Amino acid sequence: MRLGDVEAFLLSDGVIRYDGGGFFGLVPKLLWEKEIKADELNRIPIALNCLLVLAGGKRIIVDTGYGDKLSPKGRHLLSLERQSTLFEQLAHLGLRPEDIDIVVNTHLHADHAAGNTALVDGRFVPTFPRAEYWVQEKEWEDANHPNERTRATYLVENLRPLAQHGVLRLLRGDIDVAPGVRCVVTSGHTPGHQSVVLGDGLGWFLGDAASVAVQLERIVWVPAYDLAPMESIETKRKLIQIALTPVEGAGGQRTGDGRQPLLIFEHDVERPLGRLCRDGTSLRVEPAAPEEYV
Ligand SMILES: [Zn+2]
Repeated sequence: MRLGDVEAFLLSDGVIRYDGGGFFGLVPKLLWEKEIKADELNRIPIALNCLLVLAGGKRIIVDTGYGDKLSPKGRHLLSLERQSTLFEQLAHLGLRPEDIDIVVNTHLHADHAAGNTALVDGRFVPTFPRAEYWVQEKEWEDANHPNERTRATYLVENLRPLAQHGVLRLLRGDIDVAPGVRCVVTSGHTPGHQSVVLGDGLGWFLGDAASVAVQLERIVWVPAYDLAPMESIETKRKLIQIALTPVEGAGGQRTGDGRQPLLIFEHDVERPLGRLCRDGTSLRVEPAAPEEYV
């Protein structure tokens, strides 16, 4: 998809199945199941959408999925299904792991950052050997000092190799990554969570600020995983305003055409791309047309 001067490709590290109650927190199953059907084990399909971004001569990956370090038991527990690996999808676009300049992690939970590192000859090493890994400093600190609640998802093998190889870039707040690509702090899910703005506002990769589209449509539908649920709601209030505001190009030159920003939902299987619209008194994410994926 083209977003102003930025080109982006939706990549997939596969689909897992995860407890639906976790994704909807306080919301009763009677309500959320109307939106996303659960299986007999109460699990819903969760996409592991990642992004390749080409901007200003830089090749950027946003989030890295689970990668290849899951044990057979882990794969089985998550019911991970993959059509192809991120490497295969990059190869299809003519890129090798060493061609990637920057990896941006929205945060360091295992479903977003386990693909940061790979097991090679018995050692954990950065998966993208030439890349600099951009993470909010606050997220890095929290991941390296997990508590009882966060320990299961902040895994040392996804973190330490980055520090050992000197490939980390720790961010303090919002920052430009490349022309037209910007990291913006969107805390709530974790205190150091960030989203990625593409094409100077034409597109938003939301990460877990709204993992699936319905979480943006309904501001109080906050996952049980969020560490600061009221902050998640405040973050979503801002994102909803941004998502409803048509993007006019700077000097009329950019290609927003007065449309709302294109939203990219990292965990949504049905609606990975869409635009937020008012539907009477409620909000609705309209899926993007197939040609917008290209
Ligand atoms: Zn996640």
